[in-house]
Amino acid sequence: MLKVGEINLRCMALLDKANTETYGTPEPAVVTLAVEKGPFIVVTGHDLKDLQLLLEQTEGKGINIYTHGEMLPAHAYPFLKKFPHLKGNFGTAWQNQQKEFDHLPAPILYTTNCLMPPKKSYADRVFTTEMVSFPGAVHIDEKKDFTPIIEKALELGGYKEDQIFTGINGGTQVTTGFGHAAILSHADTIVEAVKSGAIRHFFLVAGCDGAKPGRNYYTEFVKQTPSDSIVLTLACGKFRFNDLDLGEIGGLPRLMDLGQCNDAYGAIQVAVTLADAFGCSVNELPLSFILSWYEQKAVCILLTLLHLGIKNIRLGPSLPAFLSPNILNVLVENYGIAPVTTPEKDIQSATLSH
Ligand code: SF4
Repeated sequence: MLKVGEINLRCMALLDKANTETYGTPEPAVVTLAVEKGPFIVVTGHDLKDLQLLLEQTEGKGINIYTHGEMLPAHAYPFLKKFPHLKGNFGTAWQNQQKEFDHLPAPILYTTNCLMPPKKSYADRVFTTEMVSFPGAVHIDEKKDFTPIIEKALELGGYKEDQIFTGINGGTQVTTGFGHAAILSHADTIVEAVKSGAIRHFFLVAGCDGAKPGRNYYTEFVKQTPSDSIVLTLACGKFRFNDLDLGEIGGLPRLMDLGQCNDAYGAIQVAVTLADAFGCSVNELPLSFILSWYEQKAVCILLTLLHLGIKNIRLGPSLPAFLSPNILNVLVENYGIAPVTTPEKDIQSATLSH
């Protein structure tokens, strides 16, 4: 089981290298949730290469591009953000697609991702590529000619007026791009802030999202984190709270989005570097891992953290089905893993234990 975690760490490191070598080192970015009038295309999923090709093919055509779900971190990559028609982010996480894509006056490109089957009301506006496919949806093959989706965007014409949309908590913009290089460029400031007591705790609130009502736990948790703590996040669970303004500590934003689920690699780099700076182990840092799981990728990341010996992870909103009582016992005894309880109790026990 831990071998899977070790191999996943290597895969995430390779993907991090591939993304940064191709698109540059992610930089912090403020991303609007507004949609401008006129033709546009929404791109959902994880695949930055498809986004790049679509941006190139839509250049100068009067079509704006908006990210959705796990594509949000694309706004942080220098190569991608240089395209002026990459405008903002539309919508939230994958499980809200049916609600968010209904009545959209624009086509949607689905790249590899967690996806909801399209409803009839918008199925004629869905375009797929790579491994994604739905009956009746136009599939863009490996030649990557996006002409059908471009024609659809021009035909639908988009909104007549600029539209203001908000995140789940009413915010009109979100931030992303706090990859490991961006965070660690402030390593000295962070270390000093910890030493002076300005920063007392770090929470990594990260993982997948889903439709279960219990996932409101993560919104409440982040809202209740103390003002002298930093919240690191990644993957699509962040849409539960990434439009909140948590303020700053010494010029550093309290909420930092490291990117997609595979950017868990970056969070590990940050933790290891801080542990080195303080001359302690990651488990001795004032850092708590609050993970939300949904599918196999989140489980892989959990196994990677266990492979690295990370202890006392809080897991929710419910425990994965593969955790039989025997496996759970091993994880509790050896790694102190525990299900989430309430935000109040979990924050208290996290801050008291460090
Ligand atoms: S973060 Fe998890 S739930 Fe969200 S799209 Fe990626 S794999 Fe799916």
